[in-house]
Amino acid sequence: MTHPLLPATKAHLAQLIAFDTVSDRSNLALIDHVGRHFAALGAELTELRDTTGIKANLIARLGPPDRAGLVLSGHTDVVPAQAADWTTPPFQMHERNQRLYGRGSVDMKGFLACLMAVAPTMAARELALPLWFCFSHDEEVGCLGAPAIARYLSALPAPPKLAIIGEPSLMQLVTGQKGKIAMRVTVRGVGGHSSFAPRHVNAVEVAARLIGMIADRAARYAAEGPFDPDFTVPHPTMLATMIEGGIATNVTPAACGFTFEIRSLSEPQARADLAAFIAEAEAALLPAMQAVEPTAGIVWEEIFAYPAMTSATQTAGFAAFADRLPGFGGKVSYGSEGGVFETLGGIPSVIVGPGSIEQAHKVDEYIEIAQLDACLHFLDRLVNAR
Ligand SMILES: [Zn+2]
Repeated sequence: MTHPLLPATKAHLAQLIAFDTVSDRSNLALIDHVGRHFAALGAELTELRDTTGIKANLIARLGPPDRAGLVLSGHTDVVPAQAADWTTPPFQMHERNQRLYGRGSVDMKGFLACLMAVAPTMAARELALPLWFCFSHDEEVGCLGAPAIARYLSALPAPPKLAIIGEPSLMQLVTGQKGKIAMRVTVRGVGGHSSFAPRHVNAVEVAARLIGMIADRAARYAAEGPFDPDFTVPHPTMLATMIEGGIATNVTPAACGFTFEIRSLSEPQARADLAAFIAEAEAALLPAMQAVEPTAGIVWEEIFAYPAMTSATQTAGFAAFADRLPGFGGKVSYGSEGGVFETLGGIPSVIVGPGSIEQAHKVDEYIEIAQLDACLHFLDRLVNAR
């Protein structure tokens, strides 16, 4: 049976999509909109602003504060959309073929719309455990908002015992997510007229050798692991992602910058691997560079990192809700805030959310209406049976 709250969910989703919350913009208008909805239901609200003051997380609590409850969490930001490429305007919801189109429809305003739709029913109940509805900022640019939520929740007298992150998982239970470290590398060489190349340090060539070493390290991960067969890509990955260098065909390039990432099964392991990689790369390349010019070098900067989500299934919090969670759907290589909740907040986390990650970050992003319906039934089951 179609869930009676499906029309309300669609209406909420249309409103949420209409807020242009691309990560480089303020999300305060959306936070204010969601906050007013929950305030009207008598929820206790906490708004956590970032240092810029134009981004905020919102936490809305229903139910008693003095018991360990459940977190239902999603991010409010979306990736950019080039309107010219879309069939219909990205920040207006459009329905066709049993799907709802719009930027953020699946990643992940569809889940947020479900939370808003079920909240009145939950507010009307005598809840035995608190529900913490969390709306974060800046997930798409490195889970920047989630740490403040994790710290807030972990400092509560009764921290929540489980977090459900509503990233698109086709409503299956996802119990693991890889961690990521994103790095920027700047090679500082020595430039000049390219006819004098032997007197220079060619930054593009050094970068090329570094990228070759990254590809070799990635091949070693694929061959030697560590492995976890529950992931679709069952080992860590490492790759270069952007590169820029050189100014003319007849100038030895003095500078080259590139970025790379490691996606890991465990953050401590990734940190150790990265340190070893940097030491090895510098030992191989720096002596020859600095023999030409002592100031030549390689600068390594971390752009952002978020931890893996790994361990919920072993916890009492997971056991308490296990019979209400859907069937196991594996582990995922994309990021989510679950790793942050686990690592910084000590809150076991899993992913269960409507729609498919296949449609995320794409032109003509959509969510199947049937997935929203399934999510509403799941949320009912989760809160009813206690
Ligand atoms: Zn997402």
